[in-house]
Amino acid sequence: MENLHLLYSATARCRCGAGLAYDETNIGKNNAWVCSRVLLGEIEPSQDHDEYPFSMYDIKSECQPSAYGATTRPGGVAKTREQGRIAMLGEPRVKMLERNKELFVYHPPKEGQAERYERIRRAAKDFADTVVINGCPSPELTLAIRAIEEAMMRANQSIAVNE
Ligand SMILES: [Zn+2]
Repeated sequence: MENLHLLYSATARCRCGAGLAYDETNIGKNNAWVCSRVLLGEIEPSQDHDEYPFSMYDIKSECQPSAYGATTRPGGVAKTREQGRIAMLGEPRVKMLERNKELFVYHPPKEGQAERYERIRRAAKDFADTVVINGCPSPELTLAIRAIEEAMMRANQSIAVNE
């Protein structure tokens, strides 16, 4: 069983050999480095497994740059500081990160999409031309063109990102 919120020590281990760890989302509760097997629920807490209060021991975490990637995490791949932060984020921001994967990636046109993009672009250009021909040159007119431009981009993006 993997706990995504566990942060492991760089080198310090419980006397049983398992790495020390703490739950990043639950720091107030424990305030200590604890045998990771205990935290994972694999074994019951007992005197055979170590617990080091933060206030009394300065134990280096795998996220610290000075750990140089050292970790007691099973598998031996240290969590980076950014991954540590991501693990602590709440659901809304995790969803936004998922959404970013869709937003900030190239979407090659799929079957039939190119024609629809073109229709939207053409309608936007007609609207923009109408605005330029009939409006009065001014900062407002420039903003109007920008707004049409954005509407066109958003409309095309709605296809690219969601289909
Ligand atoms: Zn232990």
